[in-house]
Amino acid sequence: MTITYHDFISSVRFVLVRPSHPGNIGGAARAMRTMGFIHLALVAPQRFPDPQANVLAAGADMLLNDAAVEGELVDALGGVTFTLGLSARRRAVRLPELTPREAAIQALSVVSRGERVALLFGNERSGLENEELARCHVMVRIPSVDDFSSLNLAQAVQIMAYELRLAMLGDNAAPLARDHPLVDVVQMEHFYEHLGKTLDDIDFHKGRSPETMMLRLRKLFQRIALDERELRILHGILADAQRMAKLAKKPGSQKTGSQ
Ligand code: SAH
Repeated sequence: MTITYHDFISSVRFVLVRPSHPGNIGGAARAMRTMGFIHLALVAPQRFPDPQANVLAAGADMLLNDAAVEGELVDALGGVTFTLGLSARRRAVRLPELTPREAAIQALSVVSRGERVALLFGNERSGLENEELARCHVMVRIPSVDDFSSLNLAQAVQIMAYELRLAMLGDNAAPLARDHPLVDVVQMEHFYEHLGKTLDDIDFHKGRSPETMMLRLRKLFQRIALDERELRILHGILADAQRMAKLAKKPGSQKTGSQ
């Protein structure tokens, strides 16, 4: 499905969870506005509305006026089917971790299916709580340095807004109008299942841990955004490998030359 610029903008929501500084809310609104996004939701902001927010919004006041202000996170997620949680730190919650670029490509692919996405940003001091991250489908980490990993909230919003805009403009592997739709998370899971089964069938692991190998292979495939035709080709290769493995296991199947 081809989506328009308008579809994309109206399907992406930026959610600031418990922001403490109104200046950061304004800064986030400005960051979104520069990249064309308009839907801002605030969950339990400490001070809002506040003149400081308007000062930092630098003209993007409309986003502040239209912002949905909610008491609970779940109320900010109505209609949303895919939630991305931004976190500087790796957390106890085990979620697939994406870079901003990978996340933007996934978000675009989800929106192309007619769904809505939300990006969750945490409190300036404490970040997203585990319970908040538990509502997310994936975690996004901006690859900052380990010993100073936390960006200013509005700057984290800027990076995501920029990556989403790049993805939307077709700067990388996910232009808006592709010949074939991008593969979604569910299709990738089926592929990993098929891949795992095939590796067993061809006796690839030879006693090594299949889990580690599968994690490495997942990482490899997560670096690229496959489309549905490419995925069909890969499934085809796996199916052939499985067929050959089955033939090879049949009694009397050894080639004469190898005896
Ligand atoms: N100490 C907090 C940092 C809060 S900064 C923590 O460890 O999470 C405020 C918010 O900005 C974060 O909750 C997150 O949503 C976003 N953010 C800041 N730096 C980030 C990074 N390196 N990667 C992803 N999100 C980041």
